[in-house]
Amino acid sequence: MSNSTRCAACKLLRRRCPEDCILGPYFPSNNPQRFSSVHKIFGASNITRMLKRLPVEQRAIAADCMSYEAERRVEDPIYGCVKIIYGLEKKKNEIELELAKTRSEIAFHSALHAQQQQQQQQVLWSMTNATQQSDQVEPSWLNGNSIQELHQQQQMANHTINEVHGGHDEQFTSWLDQHQPF
Ligand SMILES: [Zn+2]
Repeated sequence: MSNSTRCAACKLLRRRCPEDCILGPYFPSNNPQRFSSVHKIFGASNITRMLKRLPVEQRAIAADCMSYEAERRVEDPIYGCVKIIYGLEKKKNEIELELAKTRSEIAFHSALHAQQQQQQQQVLWSMTNATQQSDQVEPSWLNGNSIQELHQQQQMANHTINEVHGGHDEQFTSWLDQHQPF
């Protein structure tokens, strides 16, 4: 491979880039920073050794992971990518806590709603029961008669009473006439 088409690794290491360069596919010349970071942290020989140990189909993933780790290590020499992992774990714990809190709130409000529904049903049930009881009472005093029939019966009874009373009054008047004390 000519100097102009050397991979980023070979270009940085100032060496000839062979046709079967193991680093070439994963560190292209258009992204020199990627190999620069990896080389700074792991060293070119270590990267080459790690890639050689792996099956060809897994080398791209390994190169991506080494690149990610190296870039984070360059940014943060103390924690590197661990800072991001810890940050994500902290966020995950906070979200899980929030989720548990929300779930318990949902459970509480569901229970409260169920209790309110039960109380409403009990009130409705007692009201319905009271109405049914009053429905049962009505026929006992209506005695199978309609209100209109009862009214007619009451009028007839009043009429009879008037007749009787009237009769009594007439009898009393005639008695008075017959036994006039004065
Ligand atoms: Zn190369």
